Amino acid sequence: MNQFETEAIPCPLCEKDQYRLFAEENGFRAVKCDFCGLIYVNPRPVDELITEAVKKQGCIARLMAAKAWWCGACLPT
Ligand SMILES: [Zn+2]
Repeated sequence: MNQFETEAIPCPLCEKDQYRLFAEENGFRAVKCDFCGLIYVNPRPVDELITEAVKKQGCIARLMAAKAWWCGACLPT
């Protein structure tokens, strides 16, 4: 298991900071926003890590989505 630098974030959609645990996989937690129902990874790897990984893997189409729904396949291994 790689160690990523992570940060806790509010909901990327409605920016509220109230959520409940939805699922846990590979050491990452998916949470569900209490307000809009969006499921997102929280805490998530820091912004620069995501951007870096997406660039490196040529996964550009996912860059914006990755901010909320980062692609596990894009992360450096
Ligand atoms: Zn929300």
